[in-house]
Order: sequence, then structure tokens, then C-alpha cells
Amino acid sequence: MASQQETDQQVTGTFAVDDEGFVVDTEDCEARELAHRERGTSHPITVVGNPVLHQECQDVTEFDAGLARLVDDMFASQHTAEGVGLAANQIGVDRKVFVYDCPDDDGVRHTGYIINPVLAELPPERRVLDSSNEGCLSVPTAYAELARPDYAEVSGVDLDGNPVKLRGTGYFARCLQHETDHLYGRLYIDRLSKRDRKDALRQMAEGTPRYEVVPND
Ligand SMILES: [Zn+2]
Repeated sequence: MASQQETDQQVTGTFAVDDEGFVVDTEDCEARELAHRERGTSHPITVVGNPVLHQECQDVTEFDAGLARLVDDMFASQHTAEGVGLAANQIGVDRKVFVYDCPDDDGVRHTGYIINPVLAELPPERRVLDSSNEGCLSVPTAYAELARPDYAEVSGVDLDGNPVKLRGTGYFARCLQHETDHLYGRLYIDRLSKRDRKDALRQMAEGTPRYEVVPND
């Protein structure tokens, strides 16, 4: 999955896609990320315990200027919090949208967004588990080891409602799974053992986030 790989690209909707129909999200990352966040407004981050994080978000049905503004605001918020991925409910919005700006294990940067994402079921031979450290802006200052498949495919739509597909390996595959989980009301700590979950919450209680969070009251 090297970025230098030559593929026949064609443009459908707002994204270029490769010859297997997956979004090319490795080009002009810096310019695209900057354009989104300069149009957007940064918002504080919701944290574990806030109800919006613990329920499935609503499907997006209106593809209007408000949706484009949400994506811009999410890029701005992700940048402020120094995240590599952000789901809409992490800024308190009950809609199935996530953005990302995330390197894979080859150091290749992936930048983009997806609306109404659905994670593809992988055939058993493609489910190779990778155990790495994971953290979440909504569980500030905590990290835990979590095993996840090292490859992921997600399908959804773009800002115009056109079908799109994303895929990733390594750390970026982890990001795609983590962000899709968010939109179905699941945090990574919900996938930990009872003991590791408790430890993550203790780390959070003892730490101080480096960005503004929404108080739970
Ligand atoms: Zn998260």
C-alpha cells in the first residue's frame, strides 16, 4: 500500500478512486486538511459518560451545506486536540460522520472523511490480529493495548451522497475501526477486559487533557 503505487485513477464525486474503487486518500493531504480546518470552527471534545458517545448515531439523510460545515468543524476540532481521527459524537453531534488524518504502519499519511460508514466483515484468512496501544480523545490521557484486525474496509458515502469505500492497514486500519465503533456508540475501552477498562479510566482520572473537553454533569 505504498503511496508511490501507480494506479489508474478516475474522479467520481469529490474523491479520486483507485482501480478497485477505494478512495485515494494519500494525496494532497496537507492542503486538504488545511482547507477543511480553515473553514471550520473547533469545538470541545465530549468524554466517556456523555450519553451522545454511548448510543448509535443517526444516519445522515440531508446532504447540505450544514453537513459540509460539520466536516470542516470536525477537521478543526481534530487538529486542536491533536487527534488522528474524530467521530461527530465526539463534538456532541448525533450523526454518522468521521474524519481522519492518520499515518499507516508504512508512514503513509491518510486524510479524509466518510458519512454513514459500515465496517466490512472480513473473511477469516484476512483477520490477522495486531495488538497495539490505543487511545481516544474522549478518554483523555489513557492508553491500553487492544487486539484488532490489521486490515479494515469501510463503505459509506461522501458529502454529495455518492458511495465511497476506504481501506487501511496497521495503525490506519485501527483508526477506521475505532472511528466506526464510535458512531455505533462503542468506545475502545468497551472492548477491553474489565480490569484494563478500569485501569484506563484511572489513567483518565489522574491525567489532565491538553484540549478543551465538555464537562459531564
Ligand atoms: Zn475515539
